Amino acid sequence: MNIQLDAIRPEDDCFGTVSDRQMLSFPEAVATALATAVPPGGRETVALSQSTGRVLATDVLAPSALPRFDHSAMDGYAVHCADFNGREPWMLEVVSSVAAGEVTSGQHAGFRKAVGINTGALIPDGFDAVVVQERCSQMGSGRILVTSAPREGANIRRRGEDVAADTLIASGGAEISPHHSALFAAMGIKEVSVRPRIRIAYLATGTELRRPGEPLGPAQIYDSNCFLVQSALLKHWAEVHDFGYVPDTLEAAVRLLEEVAGSFDVIISSGGMSHGPMDFMRAALKTCGARLSVLNVKMRPGKPSAFGRLSDSLFIGLPGNPMAAAVALTQLAMPAIRRTAGIMKIGNAWEVGVADFEYRKRLGLSEFVPVRFSDQSGDLFPSLELLGKGSSGSLLPLAQADGLACLGPDLEVVQHGAAIQFTRFRD
Ligand code: AMP
Ligand code: MG
Repeated sequence: MNIQLDAIRPEDDCFGTVSDRQMLSFPEAVATALATAVPPGGRETVALSQSTGRVLATDVLAPSALPRFDHSAMDGYAVHCADFNGREPWMLEVVSSVAAGEVTSGQHAGFRKAVGINTGALIPDGFDAVVVQERCSQMGSGRILVTSAPREGANIRRRGEDVAADTLIASGGAEISPHHSALFAAMGIKEVSVRPRIRIAYLATGTELRRPGEPLGPAQIYDSNCFLVQSALLKHWAEVHDFGYVPDTLEAAVRLLEEVAGSFDVIISSGGMSHGPMDFMRAALKTCGARLSVLNVKMRPGKPSAFGRLSDSLFIGLPGNPMAAAVALTQLAMPAIRRTAGIMKIGNAWEVGVADFEYRKRLGLSEFVPVRFSDQSGDLFPSLELLGKGSSGSLLPLAQADGLACLGPDLEVVQHGAAIQFTRFRD
């Protein structure tokens, strides 16, 4: 999806006259949510051992070449290619040996002289190839017979062939992976500059909500969105603070919003964003002076999703229905949250699959459906099985799904065998 961030004007405050009529398309909502998210400022230095999963604050340049010195890629014999003149086989005298971590001088070089060498050992001066052990016959008395002439550089890993000094090895905004850590360690980097962890407040609205473990009344339900949000944000770059649930009253919602406003980078609420008589979030946000930029999205599920600024915080209002909350979180909110954390790769990756189902949908809405896919060998595209019956209150289909298919607004009927877009769940 190609979205122009510049096209979004932050001053387009949709509270007030346009508020409730404003309906953004899904791509517009993604772009607006992103424009509402402010990338972080500060940075901190952490030990490499503590850095995995954090977000790099700056580009990292290679402080040295890698490999640091020419070394053998195999166990064998260091030889001098010019010695392999005339017809095979060639008899060589093994005058010394060198293991990884050892240094030998060039004094061993000489006509048809070889040095036994182990993988990782520094190539002694005067030698320019390594003949692998299995290709040599031991002739006794420290002599080996070689039947094919090596080419220059054979089985030698050259200094800098992996990384030349001063090249860019990781970009600011990358989430530090185990592979980054290994690379940094190989270069002797012991500290890195990372973005501060972002602080996220989660609050749920709903008089009916209780936490697992609490006794449930006949009309009460467990707050599952809390676990959705906490699990999805179990990241080294984030810390989620759970403010529990507030009953459906304007006063309670305002009190909690005032408590968290400005003290967190991101505030995520669940439920109460629609227009029902018990949905107080819009009124509470207005009372608290929030400026919303997304209020309704032409998507299903997830229509009553909201984004805006509440004091210095990014406010994200998720719908209460569990499937709607999950779709809004993964498709709309996560890119904006990643941006707030300073992450460079913020979007979800889309792939093409083949619908193994027929489906009728509403024109004009982007619809997200849980799919399970089979990557049968030989199939060019994975076949997508539709899960669930399309209820935004469902939980099981997403738990069984591998990802979400997105059925665009122009589609009314998805035919069996049609090519459709889907995204795998990240992580
Ligand atoms: P709401 O968006 O508040 O109108 O809620 C829509 C539906 O989602 C209702 O059936 C709620 O009971 C349910 N719901 C709201 N919040 C949650 C939550 N945190 N966990 C699970 N279900 C919820
Ligand atoms: Mg509610």
